[in-house]
Amino acid sequence: MVRGHVFIFTCALIFFLSVQTSAQEFPIFDAHVHYNQPDWSVYTPDAILKLFDRAGVIRAMVSSTPDDGTIKLYEKSPTRIVPILRPYRTDADRGSWTKDSSVLTYVEERLKKGIYRGIGEFHMSAGQTSTPVVRGFVQLAIRRGILLYAHTDYTGVEELLRLDPKVQVLWAHAGMSARPETIGQLLDRHAMLSVELSIRDDFAPRGRLDPAWRDLFLRHSDRFLVGSDTWTTSRWENFVEIHAAFRAWLNELSREVAEKLASKNGSRLVGRP
Ligand SMILES: [Zn+2]
Repeated sequence: MVRGHVFIFTCALIFFLSVQTSAQEFPIFDAHVHYNQPDWSVYTPDAILKLFDRAGVIRAMVSSTPDDGTIKLYEKSPTRIVPILRPYRTDADRGSWTKDSSVLTYVEERLKKGIYRGIGEFHMSAGQTSTPVVRGFVQLAIRRGILLYAHTDYTGVEELLRLDPKVQVLWAHAGMSARPETIGQLLDRHAMLSVELSIRDDFAPRGRLDPAWRDLFLRHSDRFLVGSDTWTTSRWENFVEIHAAFRAWLNELSREVAEKLASKNGSRLVGRP
């Protein structure tokens, strides 16, 4: 009887330790964090970093409206926060930035801080890419060796990539609704494109990987990044669960591929701290 209890205890201990280990197996580079003004009074920068600890987030690409949110976090942890410069001084810029030359001036000035690894996340429709502001972003990104982080559809992202083959583009939400076949074709055509997966969960319905997406992740294992997208304050309440959900389907991939999607692709894209 005692022996039986010891056996059960040992099994429970092994299970507990293996759960602990698997939770640490995939440290996550979160490629899509915002720390917008409404968040500041609810979550201090220290509280955000504690959430990172709990969620197993080792580094994160952060942008915010206004940019001061990103700077607050960056000052707390320059090694963990990868600043991305959001071009919106206020939410009002979101709908008009592509035609507003003062946005280009603002971004050009702000980039002189030398800390940013990208410009974005910005929202853009197909057909808006030929403006001097968008072209200006492309040239700034190339000159500074940083990326453009675009929330746009399939056509919009390809227009952006075609402006200059040297521009590095990170595509937010994989275009929200683009199909895996379409995303695969874009990745085949454009070596400078990487794809971020936040918000949508069609690649792992009910937590299990969809076969077409699995094939795509295997075929382009160097090109996908996971992200939470804390676009509104309530998203922080579920921050830990969002990352637990990533690990559930990452565990279906080989360790090598899972590590790439979880963190290595992000680290490679933005370089060392
Ligand atoms: Zn976003």
